[in-house]
Amino acid sequence: MTIPPPAIRRLRGYASDPSLSISLSTMQVNELVYQVKWEQLEERSKGSHATWPQGEYLEIVDYDPATGKFYCPVDLDDPHLLAQDGLAPSVSNPQFHQQMVYAVMMTTIKNFERALGRKVQWAELIGRGKPKTSKGKRDEVPFGFVPRLRVYPHALRQANAFYDPTKKALLFGYFAAAPANVQLQLPGSTVFTCLSHDIIAHETTHAILDGMHRRYILATHPDTRAFHEAFADIVALFQHFTFPDVLKHQIAKTRGDLRRQNILGQLAQQFGKATGSYGSLRDAIGSYGDDGVWKPHIPNPDDYSTVMEFHARGSILVGAVFDAFLSIYQRRIERTMRIATGGTGLLPDGELHPDLVDAMAETAAKVAGDVLRICIRALDYCPPMDITFGDYLRGIVTADFDMESEDIHGYRVAFVEAFQRRGISAPGIKSMAIEDLLHELNPRGLQPGLVEQLGNFLRTVKENVGYLTDRSKIYERTKDFIRGSTGLHKQLEAKFLSDEGKFSELTGLMFPGDKAACEKQGLEYAYLTTKNASYAIGNVWLANRVTPSGNIVNQVIVTLAQKRGVQFKVDDKEDTVSVDEKGFFVPDKVITRDKRGPNHIIFGGGCTLIFDLDTLTLRYAVKKDIDDRARMIRQFRYEHGMQFDDSETYFDNRAMNSLSGPFAFMHSHALQKKGNHGH
Ligand SMILES: [Zn+2]
Repeated sequence: MTIPPPAIRRLRGYASDPSLSISLSTMQVNELVYQVKWEQLEERSKGSHATWPQGEYLEIVDYDPATGKFYCPVDLDDPHLLAQDGLAPSVSNPQFHQQMVYAVMMTTIKNFERALGRKVQWAELIGRGKPKTSKGKRDEVPFGFVPRLRVYPHALRQANAFYDPTKKALLFGYFAAAPANVQLQLPGSTVFTCLSHDIIAHETTHAILDGMHRRYILATHPDTRAFHEAFADIVALFQHFTFPDVLKHQIAKTRGDLRRQNILGQLAQQFGKATGSYGSLRDAIGSYGDDGVWKPHIPNPDDYSTVMEFHARGSILVGAVFDAFLSIYQRRIERTMRIATGGTGLLPDGELHPDLVDAMAETAAKVAGDVLRICIRALDYCPPMDITFGDYLRGIVTADFDMESEDIHGYRVAFVEAFQRRGISAPGIKSMAIEDLLHELNPRGLQPGLVEQLGNFLRTVKENVGYLTDRSKIYERTKDFIRGSTGLHKQLEAKFLSDEGKFSELTGLMFPGDKAACEKQGLEYAYLTTKNASYAIGNVWLANRVTPSGNIVNQVIVTLAQKRGVQFKVDDKEDTVSVDEKGFFVPDKVITRDKRGPNHIIFGGGCTLIFDLDTLTLRYAVKKDIDDRARMIRQFRYEHGMQFDDSETYFDNRAMNSLSGPFAFMHSHALQKKGNHGH
């Protein structure tokens, strides 16, 4: 008799990090069993060395460059480990560290796949195999599928962790604690970032987001880097609500009022305390003052226009999303509260009845799950580059509307209000009313027959790719459908580019005509394909999603992008910048920065198109116009550290970028401040 493989693998781990296991109030809820999808981990041949866990998405490499040491691998398929849900949580056991990283990363991936209705793919390798130019610049040619992220649990002796987008790797550091006082953490004790649920989930999210929108790593606006950070924190935060014991414990402790201080809204407990704070590193609802007393955040409508450092700016967005969650939760427990209190809404003193705690926890978990799903799905409704918080809000509202046109629980209103309280707006729209924030449904302009033909083509893509489960096959087949002689590129070119400028209007791309006309506008001419300006098809994603009311939605999301070189006229005395209308240049033809001078940028535009396969209609087109002068000037000012958007704040983007590598969990600038704080 053959026994089918199990559906899940159970692995013990920390809900937060080791620091909560040494506190009496939280120790009993800090250890839990992660349930990750079962997969066959790399088999090791008999007699040879065991290998580190290597599955469909991840490859753990436990090499410590500081000591030149390889740590012994954990064999998660060992029958003894399988029978006891993996190794017991332990700070001193590197094999447990490998298990913890694996469990949390796989949990994060699962949450994305559920929300997106498709498999997670890592960002592809770009430009490998192409010769470097004399300046070491590589051509931006997509090249190659990345099956697995490489994960190094003990990569650095540093109070930090990184996603490295060029190496497709996650690097976790470890360091000696330097707490503000000994009650918070033993000074000198070792803190492993790879044992923190929040840090692992955060870095994994950076990698997944990079796989979805690779242009989001370009710092073209104060919001873009901040968005990457904020989104990574949002995912880590809302995953807290999927741990039932912690959730009930905190609901009981706060008597159901999650606006009070609680660990669900806090990130990186041990890391924060070990680097000189009184509490967690980041807190979505409050913070400790210099007196060591925790106070709730009061949102300020000036925040968005004044706070520019990207981690701090990111926390505005995290605060907004968490605030929206709290409002929805509060509204949804009102009825439970009335029933529990005989209509008064006033809870009696003393401990809450466990049934009431259960009911509240159930609601909190449901709402948190909804919010996490909406926040992830919103990425499919965002432009492919230059994302702002306003774009994200529009993505959230539209994604939710697209799944459920009725908003009976007021989710969308809660999001809009929370964003407004922090001064986050969406430029270019009439008002912050929901109907204005929603992207236009079924945008017109293209001939209906053409849209239907394209829809039919995309349906073929779905029929051929939709049944595949192997991620490399999904990648390769999708590429074939983009490039092939009857591929999407050809489809768009044959049918749309000639459509009297309507396609340009819809997508924000430019197709000015022959070679001379393209190059005059700074666009590359495509000899072989369009016989007009070239453009890139970034993604073709199939989404097969279940709506909250149980309907199945079949969509294809396509992103298109172009870039052009833009030159500016700058008057330092007057602090004015204008686009040099004669200075557009084709980006790949830039010889050197020196020859061109500093006053230029590489500017991107394009769109995200969402097709409905059941009705063969174009549902949404979310664009960033490649010919938008105001956006060009904004990006130039930002990249050149000039006064931005008439706000009073000056900042220097280049200086900030040089402070830490991309996608550090901790910004070194902020770390210094934290480190001094409290001494
Ligand atoms: Zn980060």
